[in-house]
Amino acid sequence: MADSFYVGVDLGGTNIKAGVLDADAKVLCSLSVPTEVPKGRDAVVANIVVSAQQAIAQAGVNRAKVAGIGIGSPGPLSHRKGLVINPGNLPCLKDVPLRQIVTERTGIQSTLENDANAAAFGEYWAGAGKGVSDLVMFTLGTGVGGGVIVAGRLLRGFFENGAELGHIVVQPGGRKCSCGQLGCVEAYSSAYFLARVAEEMIRAGEASSLKARVAAGEMLMAEHIVEAAKAGDALAMKVWDQACYYLGVAIVNMQHVTNPERVVLAGGLIAAGDYLLDRVRKYAKQISWTLLDDLPEIRIAALGNDAGFIGAAGCAWEADRTGDW
Ligand SMILES: [Zn+2]
Repeated sequence: MADSFYVGVDLGGTNIKAGVLDADAKVLCSLSVPTEVPKGRDAVVANIVVSAQQAIAQAGVNRAKVAGIGIGSPGPLSHRKGLVINPGNLPCLKDVPLRQIVTERTGIQSTLENDANAAAFGEYWAGAGKGVSDLVMFTLGTGVGGGVIVAGRLLRGFFENGAELGHIVVQPGGRKCSCGQLGCVEAYSSAYFLARVAEEMIRAGEASSLKARVAAGEMLMAEHIVEAAKAGDALAMKVWDQACYYLGVAIVNMQHVTNPERVVLAGGLIAAGDYLLDRVRKYAKQISWTLLDDLPEIRIAALGNDAGFIGAAGCAWEADRTGDW
């Protein structure tokens, strides 16, 4: 509702970020508390509740006007059941009915959403997707994550595993991904795999300015590849170009599925800025069909690490609007 407030909680393996927003997506306050995973389930759950309570106190808003708490958690989880299923970096939360617990302990209606979906909703509600009704976000971090908004609603799918955009196959029979599939976009365009591709090529004897790092046993990082590519290293340029190309393939695939108005790129790799954007735009344009002029606009995300808690609050705002908690 127009004069209501919404709490967003972004549950991470190290810290829990929380904040309070108004119905216009304006951030009133934000804070961070340690997750304290080693202390186990009860401590982590208590910290989640505390982060929400502290945020409400810090915002100084009338508690009766707080219409919802949105919790963004690592998946897999069930939004419908409000249940965390088995998050890799938070094993102590296995099978915890988090929505119900937070609702009971705070007395405020809560909703549970996959953190990648919540971040995409944040960009849609308050960031690079503001004003757009159909959006696709690719988060280019250690892995490739994402979220899809169709007509203003998050796409979750029947099994509630939507939208795992990192596992769109862009090269059948290609590189093995962390998920076990072959040729996922994550296996080429994530920060982790981008560096692995370069390392493998160097180990196989290809020339590169990064050779000394690999020979010294140093683990290559995505920023090393970007830096070397910008400096004209042929191997780094090839690897970077390939990452941008496959991301372009994935974007064109999404163009033909949900037909978004805008595609937002988020995550660590966006530090490359136009060096990323220009190439991804070029390849997407090159690959896309010529029948219609409906290639989405591709932009860099606007909210950085705040997308998680802002989007979680947005999910509560959305639940309040639709009744789908
Ligand atoms: Zn995969």
